[in-house]
Amino acid sequence: MSIKEIDKEYVAGTYGRFPVEIVSGKGSKVYDENGKEYIDLTSGIGVTSFGIADDLWQKAVTEQISKVQHMSNLFYTEPCAKLAKMLCEKTGMSKVFFCNSGAEANECAIKVARKYKGRSTIVTLKNSFHGRTLTTLSATGQEHYHELFQPLTPGFDYVEAGNIEELKKAFNENDVAGVLMECIQGEGGVVPIDKEFAKSVEKLCCDNDALLMIDEVQTGNGRTGKMYAYMNYDLHPDVVSTAKGLGGGLPIGAVLMSEKVSKVLGPGDHGSTFGGNPVSCAAALSVVSRIDDELLSEVDKKSKLIFDTLSGAKGVENVTGLGLMIGIKTEKPAKDVVNACIEKGVLCLTAKDKVRLLPALNIKEEDLMKALEVIKEVIA
Ligand SMILES: *Cc1c(COP(=O)(O)O)cnc(C)c1O
Repeated sequence: MSIKEIDKEYVAGTYGRFPVEIVSGKGSKVYDENGKEYIDLTSGIGVTSFGIADDLWQKAVTEQISKVQHMSNLFYTEPCAKLAKMLCEKTGMSKVFFCNSGAEANECAIKVARKYKGRSTIVTLKNSFHGRTLTTLSATGQEHYHELFQPLTPGFDYVEAGNIEELKKAFNENDVAGVLMECIQGEGGVVPIDKEFAKSVEKLCCDNDALLMIDEVQTGNGRTGKMYAYMNYDLHPDVVSTAKGLGGGLPIGAVLMSEKVSKVLGPGDHGSTFGGNPVSCAAALSVVSRIDDELLSEVDKKSKLIFDTLSGAKGVENVTGLGLMIGIKTEKPAKDVVNACIEKGVLCLTAKDKVRLLPALNIKEEDLMKALEVIKEVIA
């Protein structure tokens, strides 16, 4: 049996996979079982921030593995402490909780908000995506994710992004513990939130002593040209959840807490066996330490290249996003575009009815341009 056949037989059928088996890679190039080369504009859905098998990342991981691969949270370990310090220094936040995924980070954020003032209602946005656990599914403002898994966790209210009246109504009708939102709705089709609306959310949270919680699982860690996307919006969140690109390819999630909420979680309130794992934290330390002004200006430069190349190109209706998180509304169905690109050696993603690009932050300009030419040709 081939790997594809074994997978189809034994792996739970929750994913629609492309008919490609990836066996190796380096940077933004990956190779399939037949040795065919692809330029990777997916980075594992925004995970491999510095590409596949990056030298510095690999060194950080293998060095830590050769020392200690895991201890329980009953003991101190260096990578965990140092990563928490670095994340706080880069954001002005005060405390960090480590977990293993985006959904878990949002679970923790929701627990912080509920415990903070003993209130229950969390406001989220329609068309959002916050994860697959039952509570983060509840937080996700898209009906079709909810249908088959009732009853979900109660205590969520959904408002339309950009609709300030609806937002005010949610605050008037509920004792709101906090608002959880993405600055750019990723799975929702790479839709940036309106700046004025974002500031209204912040003000309403502030006036009502509710927590402003930003889901930076996809937008975080340099993806949008800032360390975190909320920094493009002049927001001052109380809680930030992140994951995906943080570990550069190893599972890690984090919740950053401001001074105001830094003492909300106490002993026994929350925990995770693998949270703060030394290898994942060493990987994340190597990623975060490289997200500096030079890298971020590279991200902006490559972002501009993408917008300049694709905006107004034949078959393109519009291009949305920020930094290296890009959505392309094409005249052809997005799925067909992505399949044709794969055929021609370029890996990209969809998000709803858009073609989505999430290349590695350090993708070489020439690889990016080569891939964009292929995309342009396919889209036309
Ligand atoms: C991917 C994603 C999640 C879920 O992350 P997992 O690691 O898959 O649990 C949550 N929020 C946003 C915005 C995401 O893009």
